[in-house]
Amino acid sequence: MIRITDILDNTQSYLSADELEMIQKAYIYSATVHQGQVRLSGEPYLTHPMEVAGILVDLKLDAATIISGLLHDTVEDTLATLEQIEKEFGKDVAFLVDGLTKISKISFASQEERQAENFRKMILAMSADIRILLVRLADRMHNMRTLRFQTPEKSVYIAKETMDIYAPLANRLGINWMKMELEDLSFQYIAPDDYNELSKRVAKTNESRHRYTEEVKSIIRAEMNKFAIKGEVEGRAKHLYGIYNKMREQKIDFDEVYDLIAFRIILDTDKDKSCYEALSMVHALWKPVPGRFKDYIAMPKANNYQSLHTAVIGPYGERVEIQIRTKPMHEWAEKGIAAHWRYKEGRAYKGTEENQIKKLREALETQYEIKDPKEFMSNLKLALFPEDVYVFTPNGDVKSFPKGATPLDFAYSIHTDVGNKCIGAKVNRNIVPLKYELKNGDRVEIITQAGHHPSKDWLKYVVTTRAISKIRNWINVEEKKSSLALGRELLDKEFKRNNLKLGNLIKSGEIKKALDDLKQASLDDLISQVGFGRLSPRQVVNLFLAVDEEKKEETITEKAKKKTDQTSPMGISLTGIDDVMVKFAKCCNPIPGDQIAGYISRGRGITVHDIHCPHIKKMDGERVVDVQWSVQEKNTYPVHIKVICDDRKGVLTEVSSVISSVDINISHAQVDTKDMIATCHFVIEVRDIKQLNKIISSIKQLKFVKSIERVSKYQASQEI
Ligand code: MN
Repeated sequence: MIRITDILDNTQSYLSADELEMIQKAYIYSATVHQGQVRLSGEPYLTHPMEVAGILVDLKLDAATIISGLLHDTVEDTLATLEQIEKEFGKDVAFLVDGLTKISKISFASQEERQAENFRKMILAMSADIRILLVRLADRMHNMRTLRFQTPEKSVYIAKETMDIYAPLANRLGINWMKMELEDLSFQYIAPDDYNELSKRVAKTNESRHRYTEEVKSIIRAEMNKFAIKGEVEGRAKHLYGIYNKMREQKIDFDEVYDLIAFRIILDTDKDKSCYEALSMVHALWKPVPGRFKDYIAMPKANNYQSLHTAVIGPYGERVEIQIRTKPMHEWAEKGIAAHWRYKEGRAYKGTEENQIKKLREALETQYEIKDPKEFMSNLKLALFPEDVYVFTPNGDVKSFPKGATPLDFAYSIHTDVGNKCIGAKVNRNIVPLKYELKNGDRVEIITQAGHHPSKDWLKYVVTTRAISKIRNWINVEEKKSSLALGRELLDKEFKRNNLKLGNLIKSGEIKKALDDLKQASLDDLISQVGFGRLSPRQVVNLFLAVDEEKKEETITEKAKKKTDQTSPMGISLTGIDDVMVKFAKCCNPIPGDQIAGYISRGRGITVHDIHCPHIKKMDGERVVDVQWSVQEKNTYPVHIKVICDDRKGVLTEVSSVISSVDINISHAQVDTKDMIATCHFVIEVRDIKQLNKIISSIKQLKFVKSIERVSKYQASQEI
């Protein structure tokens, strides 16, 4: 049993001495008025308010809430009065206790009526103060923990009510542990046989599960160390009701539920990006199961829950579920509204929490006018799951969709083909447009037509991930088909204009060079990129016209770069991560001062690109990370510049001496002359963009210089 010293010990870190004294006073008051009362368990009644207060302390709630927990049954069950409580503990506490008393005071003939009225009261009380609901939840939590002392009929009734109303409420407020514990406790009473069998089966596999959990955890930890990702790894068995639901929903046996354990990486940071970095680490380690990745960071759940969820093929070929989140996200996932919830004077809530409470309150308040208790209860349930819409198939089966779903979502939930060929729908026997928003209770019938196909517009109407991915997939395949045809046509023309034959280059295998240079995986990719307009036909043809010059530019920059690679550290820092493997992208060759971004390559560290580099723009955005230059004075970076000037004696020497005069090394110099024009190539070692710009403007001062450019491979002539 929890003691008052425990409560005081656990609150002294965040409450004032005056508040602690008030809590102690409430304890003595509660002990005095409940004196002589016993619970069905035979324990003194005081244990109940104490345990309730203990739960509120775990949620780190304020003093008034904890005091209300200690006093929540005093006005209803003892001789204590509200006036006394106000006198002893102040208006705030009296207000909360009053709300709690009202919730449970009125009793009605039928259970349904009683329940409905209770919740009506609860809503009224809640509109005034969310803390009343939190005390009520804690109250129910302890009653559920001690439910075995009730009569069987009563315990089933209370368990059902808990499953119907309180567990969803805890979920709605984002207090995950409370939701799970309430569900497991209710499950035990509502379906005792199923509960017992399942818990026996889970217990039987305890030992091997423990061994397996430790193994997976240590593999993940080792990988995190390797990439210097800081954080904790947890592996916990799912709660029984969760497993039970899964078995029922997917119609599978216990032995077929592979993912009994949910693994969790809690990163030691508050940066969202780190989660994506950890995700790419996990996906590099184990193959992801397609379609199982969920990004609740970009798209938080209705209760503000944030995390990345993925499933991978684990060390034994089994399916492993992994959640990745930052510490603040974890706090929210576990404690929900209570996590960041700080009660301010004048009853003000903060930011998202305020919004969250407001939304819930509004949803519940609109139900207040409904007089019929049955209707009220079913409406209340809908209010607790506002994100779901329940509709019927023509056979009378129920399907649930997120709010905002349309007949297209419905069609894709039946079959991809039904979705792709959908031309319309009947809702309750009336034809509706495809963008019609499904409403609760709608009976939906899909109309299809052979040969019909999706259009891009459809993406505006669907909300389910399944429909979105199926439509995208169709569009991608179609676009690729047509872009292949177009790309081929454009390339053929451009090659012909330059007296080359694309067909021959393909046959001889020479085309492979273009694939490497333009970073395309296959010929089809290359052609469709041209068709999409992402590559110009000119770019491809150029590779076969200016073979020599291209080769030269590549080698001189790279040769120079190899030198620096060996001698100096990279001068790149990645926010929150040290010691990552870093290399510079060959395509854009950035130097300090350039805006840069990193790309996480699987198992090969981070490649740093210029932010404007067309390659990084095309890459998987999830794996792009922020990187910063952390330049040390001694680091230099090779840059290729091209100076075009009048062809006269000694140009190379003059330009070289300008460069050398500011103490910059030239690692390569070369001059080509043609038609009275000299083209000089230099690879110089600069510290940063400032130094580069300085040297460029000095060279520009030379009278014979016509133009000067910084050369990067992706853009043959970039103006500076
Ligand atoms: Mn109570």
